[in-house]
Amino acid sequence: MDKNKKKRDVQAGLLALRKRMPALENIFDAFGPLVIALEKADDLLADWDGYKIPDAYAPRFEQGVALLSDMELPDLGEKYREVFMLVAGAVAEGLPAISKEVDEIVVAVGEVENFNDLAKALWDEDGKLLRSLIDEWKIDDQTLAFIGTMALKPFMARMEPEAAKAIENMAWHKGYCPVCGTFPDLALLKKSGDDNAYLKSHGGQRWLHCSCCGHEWRFKRNTCPWCENEDIEKLRYLQADERKNERVDVCESCKHYFVTIDTRELSDQPDPRVAPLGLVHLDISAQEKDYLPLAETPWNVL
Ligand SMILES: [Zn+2]
Ligand SMILES: [Zn+2]
Repeated sequence: MDKNKKKRDVQAGLLALRKRMPALENIFDAFGPLVIALEKADDLLADWDGYKIPDAYAPRFEQGVALLSDMELPDLGEKYREVFMLVAGAVAEGLPAISKEVDEIVVAVGEVENFNDLAKALWDEDGKLLRSLIDEWKIDDQTLAFIGTMALKPFMARMEPEAAKAIENMAWHKGYCPVCGTFPDLALLKKSGDDNAYLKSHGGQRWLHCSCCGHEWRFKRNTCPWCENEDIEKLRYLQADERKNERVDVCESCKHYFVTIDTRELSDQPDPRVAPLGLVHLDISAQEKDYLPLAETPWNVL
């Protein structure tokens, strides 16, 4: 794909959405720079090859073990620090309230030799290692973990196409990502092609978009991606009157929600990297009713 075209799309997409949703202007100002930074990081990692995608083993995968879930941290080289700095700049720009902490972090970690230990701590969810780094570098822990986690996403996105290829002929019935195991930040209803029996649907297919690596996979309609509840009495959606193609699906069994765009009547297909920003009003209305998001994103942790 032409990279320049892709980059233009993210920025143009952000601007167009911002214009269409003036009530969410502050959301776009706060998180637009982050979305653009993640896109720039994709370019930065185009030649990164410090990873090896594990072999897919169907019996295990089809039980619901995501392909990369047991993978060791790949060799990030100097790239992790570069991506981290990009993300840090975007966070400081979008969130002035924490820009001082961000600046302190950038100064503190600029030269440290064990910087990739941060990636390892977050990758392995090793709280002890993370704690020791925070003590050593003497910086704000929450901001560090937030930027550090965001800075891992482009590496996942970089590995996604190859990982997707490795599993393309295997079955996956889970509501979390078959590549990286993360829950989706967006569901898309698409026109039905030729349906198979398992996913048989009337009125379109449901696709889920991973909030981490960006992978999209098809998932049954009328099933909750979180708890797999299939009781349609307990699955509802809330919709604003003015925007009929956007809605928030909720499950009364587990009290989780997710945002959905019905793309079937749209001439312009939404860019899933940008679209969730334009649906924050739905996050707000669901969270006001005490539902929890499937995936926490920077903009839906309200
Ligand atoms: Zn994923
Ligand atoms: Zn549920």
